[in-house]
Amino acid sequence: MIFRSGQTTDYQFEIFKKFSSHDAYPEAEKWLGMLRSIDDVIQAEITGDLRRGKSTVGSIEIAAAAQNSESVITSVLGLEGYMDVEEATPDTLRLLLTSGIQLIIRFSKLIQFGSLLQFTTGSPAHNELLENRGESLNLSYQSGRLEKNGALVEFETEGSLYSALGLPLIPPELREGENELETPHSLNTSHLIAQTDIKSDLHVHTDFSDGKDSVEEMVCGALIRNLSAIAITDHSPSMLYRRYSDDSYLLEQHEVIDQLRKKYSTHITILKGIEADILPNGAIDLSAAMLKKMDIVVASLHVELDQPREEITARLIRAIENPFVDIIGHPGGRLYPMADITDLDWDKIFRAAAYNQVALEINSHKSHPLFEDEKVRQAVALGVPIALDSDSHSTAMLDQSRFGISIARRAGLSSDQVINTWSPNHLQLWLKAHRKSTAAER
Ligand SMILES: [Zn+2]
Ligand SMILES: [Zn+2]
Repeated sequence: MIFRSGQTTDYQFEIFKKFSSHDAYPEAEKWLGMLRSIDDVIQAEITGDLRRGKSTVGSIEIAAAAQNSESVITSVLGLEGYMDVEEATPDTLRLLLTSGIQLIIRFSKLIQFGSLLQFTTGSPAHNELLENRGESLNLSYQSGRLEKNGALVEFETEGSLYSALGLPLIPPELREGENELETPHSLNTSHLIAQTDIKSDLHVHTDFSDGKDSVEEMVCGALIRNLSAIAITDHSPSMLYRRYSDDSYLLEQHEVIDQLRKKYSTHITILKGIEADILPNGAIDLSAAMLKKMDIVVASLHVELDQPREEITARLIRAIENPFVDIIGHPGGRLYPMADITDLDWDKIFRAAAYNQVALEINSHKSHPLFEDEKVRQAVALGVPIALDSDSHSTAMLDQSRFGISIARRAGLSSDQVINTWSPNHLQLWLKAHRKSTAAER
């Protein structure tokens, strides 16, 4: 196992003995880059939990095709950044990195790389489905080896292996051993949402609250990333009580946005927004007059996350029913730095969000991967709009929407099920219509 007594790292999730993929991914990319620069390495890819887009991972895994794995292993062992060699055979190199996470590199010849990549990507439950499928076709598929009439069949690409099993290439995020081989919906995977579908980020912070960068820097960061709209959603006063005595900083921010709108009008839509706090009784911590000035309102739970299930469910529903609220930010609590998992009656939340057409947010921040997988699927099935935001606190963090995309893909979402894929016009019409219809019901 990775964790040893007394070992601590900055970034392990103690509660699950797992690592945040936000932390593991850059480290995986660094080792992948170093591996690819070694002459004998023909091809190398990140595999395992990270490739399947899991929010927390047990280790970093890489599959590598090499002519001579032993010489590659010698080269890797000459690199810095690990503190222990746990296994070194021609097939597998297992290192304990100085950051505390385990790195596993598995090797094959190029001609078998497709099989290695498939097998190591997993999940074990998905691989078992493939084994069963092989059996039904009179093929033996075990531990990444496919045999036909007792003879090994080699696959340089994953696609050719899936094809031999009579399957399309199943996206790694869907390989969880559920119903990915049977459901026609899942097999038609060309519709799965991708990073390139995302047109807006509707939850970002600036130096007006706890963000690092200015409003303009965030707008430019969004522009560089080809977004067509960004909502500036700093925290509301109750989260910033040490800094502001009232909400007038939001009016100052609106003046800044008005200027930036003139400057960038042909390039990007800038929405005036807020990440309002849902108070313990379910009220929103901002006056109706100020809420009215906002183009978009994200409302989130930040305090008293440990209320009893009934109480916190009612609290969140009250926020969903608030006519100004468009998105519920990171429903579910937070995982990091400490686990504060909210005990919600999710079914009631989904029904309220669907009825009021309030979006629930897939939040890409590493603290908040608690609305994912089956929960997202259930919400969508009940008609809940889904938002997918970075919750950035700096321009660099705008890139972390990739982790939200993984969550959305794992839930099998198509681009039209996520409001951030809409054009700015479509989005603004939705926001206006949404506020009008909810207000009319009251
Ligand atoms: Zn928040
Ligand atoms: Zn936030």
